Amino acid sequence: MPTDSLSRANTLHTLLKTHFGYDHFRPLQEEIITHITAQKDAFVLMPTGGGKSLCYQLPALYFEGITLVVSPLIALMKDQVDALTANGIPAAFLNSSLTVGEMKRVQEKALQGELKLLYIAPERLAVPDFQSFLQSLPVSLVAIDEAHCISEWGHDFRPDYRNLRRLREQFTAVPVVALTATATHRVREDIIEQLGFQNSPTFISSFNRDNLSYHVRPKRNSFMGLVDILKKHPQESAIVYCFSRSDTESMAANLREAGFTALPYHAGLSSETRKANQDKFIRDEVQIMVATIAFGMGIDKPDIRLIVHMDLPKTLEGYYQETGRAGRDGLPSECILFYSYGDKMKQDFFINQLEDPLERTNAQQKLTHVIDFCQLETCRRAYLLHYFGEMWEKQSCDACDACLTPREQFDATEITKKILSAVVRTGERFGLKYVTDVLIGAKDKKIRERGHDMLSVFGIARDMPESDVMQIMASLVTRQFLMKNEGEYATFRLSQRAKQFLLENESIMLAKPLVREISLSRRKKTKGELEYNQDLFEVLRVLRKELADARGVPPFVIFGDATLQEMATYYPRDNQSLREITGVGDTKLKQFGPTFLPVISDFVTQHDIPDARPISTLRLVRRGAEEKEGLTSTYLETKRLLDERFSVEMIAKARNLTEQTVLSHVEKLLLEGTDVITDHLKFEVEDYKRTAIEKAFLQSGTESLSQVKAALGDAYTYTDIRITRILLRHHL
Ligand code: ADP
Ligand code: MG
Ligand code: ZN
Repeated sequence: MPTDSLSRANTLHTLLKTHFGYDHFRPLQEEIITHITAQKDAFVLMPTGGGKSLCYQLPALYFEGITLVVSPLIALMKDQVDALTANGIPAAFLNSSLTVGEMKRVQEKALQGELKLLYIAPERLAVPDFQSFLQSLPVSLVAIDEAHCISEWGHDFRPDYRNLRRLREQFTAVPVVALTATATHRVREDIIEQLGFQNSPTFISSFNRDNLSYHVRPKRNSFMGLVDILKKHPQESAIVYCFSRSDTESMAANLREAGFTALPYHAGLSSETRKANQDKFIRDEVQIMVATIAFGMGIDKPDIRLIVHMDLPKTLEGYYQETGRAGRDGLPSECILFYSYGDKMKQDFFINQLEDPLERTNAQQKLTHVIDFCQLETCRRAYLLHYFGEMWEKQSCDACDACLTPREQFDATEITKKILSAVVRTGERFGLKYVTDVLIGAKDKKIRERGHDMLSVFGIARDMPESDVMQIMASLVTRQFLMKNEGEYATFRLSQRAKQFLLENESIMLAKPLVREISLSRRKKTKGELEYNQDLFEVLRVLRKELADARGVPPFVIFGDATLQEMATYYPRDNQSLREITGVGDTKLKQFGPTFLPVISDFVTQHDIPDARPISTLRLVRRGAEEKEGLTSTYLETKRLLDERFSVEMIAKARNLTEQTVLSHVEKLLLEGTDVITDHLKFEVEDYKRTAIEKAFLQSGTESLSQVKAALGDAYTYTDIRITRILLRHHL
């Protein structure tokens, strides 16, 4: 390697640490920056959170003169300039939010050479005066962020981006870098064409977001499921996507009732309300945004830890983009989608209203991919990446539900026969839920009215949890044993394939539904997650919020979560060790060190924390931590599983509790008046035993378990007796 490129590499690393506080480049950043600092054009394709900004911000520091950054969103410009300023990098923006006076002041600063970066809104470029102003600047680099806005094929085309051609013609000798996270080929090609990038290299990083984990959960009791998930992310920013505007409003209200801070966001709200809600979210004053997909474009919040889709996304492109808003800072974050086959109908309804037949077919195909993704029994990450034309060869990604809990296969011949015959006996004109109710013998008025409780299939699957039956039926739809009838409602009939199965007495293996659901709600710590001191982290968060409010900036501008987590792991107590922490550069060290260091020192003294740990050695040893489960969440988990009609035995096994503990949860829940489903528990105690136990309770005249046990003898377990007592108390 020639010495000058070696010294350039050194310079770049030094700039990275002193100005941004980072120790390493992210994938491709160094290659891109090296290329740009050699004064060559570049086209950069990197997923959201990949670290595109640094690709032009660091060259801006390397070059003499000024870097122009074209960016489409006013809010983003302000956040970026705030973040740069906090790092001691002189930057400003010019857009319609400024007064004429402010505008003038920024322009003067730029002309005096006092700015390294100047963010401009594309519509400025059409103003002739502005062009001559630009012409008099010593421009060393032009960066076009969110470059997909130039393409009409993109989802957020901006006519003003067409002015960029002019900018390029104006600065022929200046390198141009265009950056986008857009994954579609058509848009990429359009950008290259529009900007005349034919001979410039394209840098494409992998679109895999390895700090995101993907989960799909069956959509039953989804609100409880959501509450459960949110409890595992206390204080962490989350977006909950809903299908309609009114859904977002009612969901936000329900979440507030359940004790969370949540606000809605959708296109029907006034722009003031939208802005106010978004600001509260960005400033960590509200934990949850409940939004339609209208939300997300205008924010770069780096520490969103959770994205939940309560309804089916329309396309995988949209899903990738919406989930992509999680974990920009690289810390582990979760993406969870609640799926029910019924939701497909909701989408179908809208697709059928599309007038252009081509558009309709297209939308239908995109939706089919979403359904396939949901019903997948193999790696979800692999499916997503393949969909976007990227190869993913690994056996397991270790961070999707399919890879974390591979679904065991089981011999589903019996239950399949039962399901198929229930579909036939009820006349092949009902939905999955109704047929399930018949199979598990649900006490349902409609079933009785139709006389379906008299069928031989009524209750023949009562030994199985309802959600298992539902999931198996969904598998049978996927395997095309069950076919959807024409018409508005999702009703099913047997396919030729199913008839053949019955006729030839075949057998069938299907994925076991149960394990997946039970194990899912335990959040696993992903590799690379620090085992930091939660209490100190909280203290530092509060401090960060105070500093941010005093300066009128979002908290992440002060320090990101990764920085606070490292502080709460390594307890830096002097400038030297504080500077070792990621995200702490020279300016922030000077500005915030004096505030943070004493707080950390006090904490260490008060909590008797042993000597500060050496960072360089420990940084490598990151391991997962055992999760402490709160009292309330353990009850809620039992309730959730009961509501899904799991047996006490299965709940105990899955949660590693004794049956007695689970039963004590049930009793406590009922005592507090919580509504839990317990009907199915009677199938756990044989009829004759239940009768005998009931009699023993009556005769003994007590509610004492041990007395009844003593009266009945060893043939009866405490579980039998306790279940019967619950049923006696609550069903008589
Ligand atoms: P993009 O524009 O590609 O979505 P950003 O430029 O907003 O991504 O960067 C996402 C986050 O990653 C920011 O919080 C940023 O500070 C952080 N980041 C960027 N580069 C690095 C790096 N080399 N080391 C650590 N964090 C980084
Ligand atoms: Mg960006
Ligand atoms: Zn996977």
